[in-house]
Amino acid sequence: MAPCTTFTGNGKPVKVAIIGAGVAGLTCACELCDRGISVALYERSAQLGEAACSWYAGGMIAPWCERESAEQPVADFGVEAQGWWDMHIDGFQKCGSLVLSMQRDKRDIERFARLTRHHQWLDANAIGRLEPELADRFERGLFYPREAHLDPRRAMHQLAAYLLERGVEIQFNTELQAEDCDCDRVIDCRGFSARDRLPELRGVKGEMLILETAEISLSRPVRLVHLRYPTYVVPREDNLFMLGATMIESERRGSVTARSMLELLSAAYALHPAFAEAEIVEAGVDLRPAYADNLPRLYRKDNIIFVNGLFRHGFLLGPAMARQAADAILNEQLFSELESCASC
Ligand SMILES: Cc1cc2nc3c(=O)[nH]c(=O)nc-3n(C[C@H](O)[C@H](O)[C@H](O)COP(=O)(O)OP(=O)(O)OC[C@H]3O[C@@H](n4cnc5c(N)ncnc54)[C@H](O)[C@@H]3O)c2cc1C
Repeated sequence: MAPCTTFTGNGKPVKVAIIGAGVAGLTCACELCDRGISVALYERSAQLGEAACSWYAGGMIAPWCERESAEQPVADFGVEAQGWWDMHIDGFQKCGSLVLSMQRDKRDIERFARLTRHHQWLDANAIGRLEPELADRFERGLFYPREAHLDPRRAMHQLAAYLLERGVEIQFNTELQAEDCDCDRVIDCRGFSARDRLPELRGVKGEMLILETAEISLSRPVRLVHLRYPTYVVPREDNLFMLGATMIESERRGSVTARSMLELLSAAYALHPAFAEAEIVEAGVDLRPAYADNLPRLYRKDNIIFVNGLFRHGFLLGPAMARQAADAILNEQLFSELESCASC
């Protein structure tokens, strides 16, 4: 049996174990620690991110842009994310996000604007003031000043350090099932691997590239609107740019396909031709864990809470899911009100 850490919730001792140190497990662990609850966090891989979908994320905290294709709860829960990340990591970038389209796709950006809120239309001059290197390249764009971004890999390491400072050391190389934990409560955050218990989970393949170039500098994520190949570029430190991401209904992780590589690189080139000289330093793939409606859920079964279905919003919605899981751990009434999982 895996040991648990004892703490006091609602005046009575409770033991909590969290399985999986992706963004769901890390945010749940930090949220419980913030409420004075120490936890045990188990991860099957040898190091952070080695087998986590979270490692490949763009790190956009973009509740308003996401509303273009996502349901309202994504925006409602997503607005919680900024405050949470601001409190837990350094280097959280609140520079907004930019949405652009080629002249031939101008109908698509008008549609994007209609479906989203909290944006401003920009002309070519205003785009150039925000991102000087994109000056004169695009006639119109949308700016979402309330959005933000982070580097997911740095953020995961910072959350791990935050936990360590509070006495929680991630137990690596430990592959568990909830039943292996002799605890009052277990939070299962195993991402797509939890499909053995959550058969309605599906995988949505996402492919990404990391490019390196000193020829371009951007301050914020830039999305290129396109009906068939919507893509984005997220700037990172050290002249790195994350370029993503495909959305393919496939549960075969595999490698980045030639077609996806062509689409991603064409989008980068359309954004700025200097990307043609960039070095491709990484090509990554993983399966986003998603339910049919692409919304995350908390399910309850016996003493287990399953936090899953974060789809393309793990960093955006992780904080809200963690808050709900912590509320349910600390409040028996809320725990019993969680949707019970019939299939797991
Ligand atoms: C290309 C791409 C771009 C994305 N961009 C964004 C973005 O910009 N913004 C955003 O918010 N989201 C984004 N996402 C989505 C985000 O990455 C996912 O929603 C998120 O990673 C899901 O997190 P998770 O913790 O549920 O799963 P995971 O990150 O997969 O974590 C699960 C963890 O559980 C561990 N585990 C599994 N089984 C066991 C076991 N039995 N015992 C112990 N440990 C176990 C795994 O090793 C893993 O570390 C993107 C995803 C992709 C693929």
